[in-house]
Amino acid sequence: MTHDMKPVFERRESQARSYCLSFDTVFTKASGSEMTDTDGRTYIDFLAGCSSLNYGHNDPDMKSALIEHIAGDGIAHGLDMYTDTKAAWLTAYEEIILKPRGMDDYKVMMTGPTGTNAVEAAMKLARKVTGRRNIVAFTNGFHGMTMGALSLTGNTSKRDGAGAEMLDGVTRMPFDGAFGEGVDTLEHIEMMIDNPSSGIDAPAAFVLEPVQGEGGLNAASKEWMEGIARLAKRHGAMLIIDDIQSGCGRTGTYFSFEGMDIEPDMITQAKSLSGFGLPFACLLIKRDHDIWKPAEHNGTFRGNTHAFVTARVALEKFWKDDAFQKKVHEKSVMLTSGLQAIADCVPGATLKGRGMMQGVDVGSGELAGAICAKAFEKGLIIETSGADDEVVKVLAPLTTPVDTFQKGLAILLEATQDVTGQAKLAAE
Ligand SMILES: *Cc1c(COP(=O)(O)O)cnc(C)c1O
Repeated sequence: MTHDMKPVFERRESQARSYCLSFDTVFTKASGSEMTDTDGRTYIDFLAGCSSLNYGHNDPDMKSALIEHIAGDGIAHGLDMYTDTKAAWLTAYEEIILKPRGMDDYKVMMTGPTGTNAVEAAMKLARKVTGRRNIVAFTNGFHGMTMGALSLTGNTSKRDGAGAEMLDGVTRMPFDGAFGEGVDTLEHIEMMIDNPSSGIDAPAAFVLEPVQGEGGLNAASKEWMEGIARLAKRHGAMLIIDDIQSGCGRTGTYFSFEGMDIEPDMITQAKSLSGFGLPFACLLIKRDHDIWKPAEHNGTFRGNTHAFVTARVALEKFWKDDAFQKKVHEKSVMLTSGLQAIADCVPGATLKGRGMMQGVDVGSGELAGAICAKAFEKGLIIETSGADDEVVKVLAPLTTPVDTFQKGLAILLEATQDVTGQAKLAAE
């Protein structure tokens, strides 16, 4: 079956395709934490749509709510008109997410449906609110592929995709830990921004991911984040947290910065926001900054009505109390020990990230790629991250059953042992 279907991709689909090159089979079905291909082979999914499927594939409650909505001729597309499903999601978001976290001061803006749309909106709004152009972004940051978001993104191969287009208006600063342990990059950044003769224009915003999803799972410390927040405030710049990959429970709490004493001016959300893998993004804006006039930032697909249905179910099912968070935390602890066993097979390997957003830096992209390829042969879908793709990154659905999770980690360990030859050494 797979062989019959594959030629059309090679023949017709643009060579800009990518994930399919690592996972070279034709998928047909998915449920929970597993995907099945045309040959009937089942794979454990430790990629989860790059954290777009935090609640797994085809969650039964989201699925039935969506089927019911469609079967009842519920609205499929309504521009940004008022609908019952939008009211229900906004109310749930307000009651379950914002209010309990003391975040009543945020307005919700529906942007275009992908993450990069939310980032573009945040950049535009920050520049409009402050009347300044310069935006501070960080080494290894990833914020999307449209022109504005790409200007914030550090990765050279991604930036090269823009050809001769200008990706300017951004000042790059070192992320927490960028100079290695023992160097406090916050001091360096403060010196550059506080010094009126540093040559850096007053910033409109600081944009950052608390855990860098694509850039190697670098996790900023609470102290560093709070320092950046204070610095932004001191200079009248917006603090924009890009929680597109690290949010929706990925690090163990709904927002990745919970427990830090920071109050972002804007927060971007996408990826797992719909809960079901549907395209849906939004920008949270501190009330004072909500200055765009009607349609000043517009779009045809702002607020995905089907996603409103599934996103509401996700909030009601997983976030009404802290039971889910506790389970995610337990799994994170398992993940750390599973990854430590893997790191122990590779001299010099280190653990990266936090929560259910962790990985192993194995030192080279070649080795990390070989481990992921071997894991796929053994039935595990997993990808790399980092400047040289040197981090084997686990993004399992947060809902993965413990036995499946352990099985996936065991496959990853075996794959690492096979690739590094450690299994043979241990047996001798
Ligand atoms: C994926 C991602 C984006 C871009 O989202 P798209 O839906 O791919 O446009 C932006 N920021 C972060 C942190 C991401 O992980």
